[in-house]
Amino acid sequence: MTSAKTSLLTGRPLDGRVAVVTGASSGMGAATARRLAELGAAVAVVARRKEKLDALAADIASTRGRVLVLPVDVTDRVAVRTAADQVAAELGPADLVFNNAGVQLISAIDELKVDDWQRQIDLNVTGVMNVIAAFLPHLTAAADRGAAADLINMSSIAATRILEKYSIYSGTKAYISHLTRLIRIELGRKNVRVSAIEPGMVDTELPDHVTDPDASALMSGLLHDIECLRDTDVAETVAFITALPRHVNISELTILPTAQPI
Ligand code: NDP
Repeated sequence: MTSAKTSLLTGRPLDGRVAVVTGASSGMGAATARRLAELGAAVAVVARRKEKLDALAADIASTRGRVLVLPVDVTDRVAVRTAADQVAAELGPADLVFNNAGVQLISAIDELKVDDWQRQIDLNVTGVMNVIAAFLPHLTAAADRGAAADLINMSSIAATRILEKYSIYSGTKAYISHLTRLIRIELGRKNVRVSAIEPGMVDTELPDHVTDPDASALMSGLLHDIECLRDTDVAETVAFITALPRHVNISELTILPTAQPI
């Protein structure tokens, strides 16, 4: 495998921006927090594993980035609301929200793994809504004062592809993609940009939670056979979306490894 470095943007196009990244303790969230900070944004990093967030924050701070660690479970609505108040108090109101935390647990429907169904719905649906509810007032306030304001929801190609045994995960991601289209009608008018990103296979910790042998074989096959996306590829995509002029909204974006067939 080659190790291409993706960096389209230079300088500090996000200077003065205040970003919130959920699911920032690993994978695409961590890479995105790092990249947004490099480009000038102050970044609040949200996830449950505090030690991972602390390590990321030390890394960002070592390059003089401003960072706030928020060890929060986004399924807890009150905790997310409190985190939003903390962001406002310590960094200023957020004008960029990467609503990224998610979990993928794959199983055949007749296995009735209802606890796994619920975990995915709690995080990928309720968690995503908790973040929107807590930070929307920040975003509309930023837009009202003439600044760029971005809500970027993490979906997946699973939102549209028909992948056997992915029913609940795909259902949650379809929810996110369609929700994004719908709320864009209302928020676009208020100059809040709303985007859904639908990645294909990205090499992260996500498959580590999958126990279904067929799904594990599909993902490890892809990881072995083709050059998958790196977390930094998606980070650069988020940075690009947010660095565009305020009147430009990339509303839906699919990003696939070039060699991924589906
Ligand atoms: P990771 O497993 O590395 O990241 C998931 C992140 O979500 C972690 O930082 C995790 O941190 C956080 N998280 C999990 N539960 C909670 C919670 N209750 N509250 C707050 N944070 C939580 O995988 P990825 O980077 O791949 O996943 C990021 C997003 O991308 C997900 O929404 C996923 O569905 C989506 N996606 C991934 C693809 C891939 O191929 N990898 C493809 C398409 C979409 P912690 O455990 O510390 O809380």
